[in-house]
Amino acid sequence: MTSNLFYQSRQRRPEVERAEGVYIWGKNGQRYIDGSSGAMVSNIGHSNPRVLAAMKAQMDSATFAYRLHFENKPAEDLAAAIAQRMPEGLNKVFFVSGGSEAMESCIKFARQWAVAAGQGSRWKVISRFPSYHGSTLGALALTGYGPLTDAFGPMYKAMPKIPAPTCYLDRDNLTDHDRGLKYAEMLRGEIIEQGSDTVLAFAMEPVGGASTGALVAPDSYYARIREICDEFGILLIMDEVMSGVGRTGRFMASEHWNIRPDLVAVSKGFGAGYVPLGAMIADEGMVETVLDAGGFAHGHTYAGNPLACSAGLAVLVEIDRMELLSNTRAMGDVLMAGLHDLMARHRFIGDVRGKGLLTAFELVSDRDTMAPLPKELRAFERFVEICYERNLITYSRRTRGGVEGDHFLVCPPMIVTEPQIGDILNILDDSLRVLARDCGLEGLNMARKIILTCAVT
Ligand code: PLP
Repeated sequence: MTSNLFYQSRQRRPEVERAEGVYIWGKNGQRYIDGSSGAMVSNIGHSNPRVLAAMKAQMDSATFAYRLHFENKPAEDLAAAIAQRMPEGLNKVFFVSGGSEAMESCIKFARQWAVAAGQGSRWKVISRFPSYHGSTLGALALTGYGPLTDAFGPMYKAMPKIPAPTCYLDRDNLTDHDRGLKYAEMLRGEIIEQGSDTVLAFAMEPVGGASTGALVAPDSYYARIREICDEFGILLIMDEVMSGVGRTGRFMASEHWNIRPDLVAVSKGFGAGYVPLGAMIADEGMVETVLDAGGFAHGHTYAGNPLACSAGLAVLVEIDRMELLSNTRAMGDVLMAGLHDLMARHRFIGDVRGKGLLTAFELVSDRDTMAPLPKELRAFERFVEICYERNLITYSRRTRGGVEGDHFLVCPPMIVTEPQIGDILNILDDSLRVLARDCGLEGLNMARKIILTCAVT
């Protein structure tokens, strides 16, 4: 088929016909279960009638009124609804249209605040490796993921990185608590190394996304990170683009550890697949400082678009009405138990992790050493295809700290039910068996060698 459209590669998929709840129908007559909510986006499920009704009502009134020419009620109401759900003082909302834009806004706002606050020597934003913060050049400077950053190195100023807390790979004798502290202290070391008066902020995903596969740090990590930032007067930027708006069972994932960031980026589940929508949520005092100093020198044409904001507001209302935060916690427990069950059955699953319905499992060739599968197997691509053939949508990546590995995100919409999770787990189980058979994985732990028998397609 020839097409004038292109994305990252030549891969093409069946054309979508319709989508409802946790299901998507293709024009090929197949019904797919959306096991990853697209790219962790469709949090409240597809075609929610109340969100569609709110959007239709807004369409009848105004779809666009440029923010410098008119105020609009959906944007005002959505900002208020977010502020109500955030920690005290984190109540100023700057709308954008996606996750990369939200992170760019955080980076640039932080810098402008520092300048306005008489701290112009601060400009470095420390982040982690691996990590993903977006595909625009500013967000890429924070991103620790070679396949997406390498080609662009000369075009931006890469920011300092510390290792992400991949404790599951550590083979030391530390307790979880001490491992958390060990990784947090790396931030302190890096700040001192860089010169603390040059460091502006630290940016992290509270629960990792595509880069680390739902990586969660030990509890001790989070509080210590906040303390270290405070010690040096450094801003804490939480990239909640994937983990925010309920995905982990709290409105923001950082709530699990009771930490208050200075700036937060959200998107994905915020527009929930109904509209492109994102936001930077900022500390009120910082916003006053920047506005007093002449304003924020940044903005996008579609910011605060009334149609997008009407959808975003309806999504928040639906999360409350359907009590999706508690459903996410309950179904997250069911899913996590099921993934552990799969791990007990398939010895090449090396780790299961996550929070709420942001969960993942990672494949290894040896559980004792956590050695990854050989790259040549391309397990991360093959497994997605095997699942797809069985009508399950999953999301995968090959990466992790230092060495490479294949992980798979299992993140169904927050409306998912226990029987639907059962269906997802059954397909995963069957697909893992097929992958093991095709790639000769079953004997791995015993034989400690890879039998490269599969024909790589
Ligand atoms: N930050 C995180 C943590 C993400 O997961 C993503 C996207 O996957 C982004 C930023 C970039 O968001 P977008 O693709 O909407 O630009």
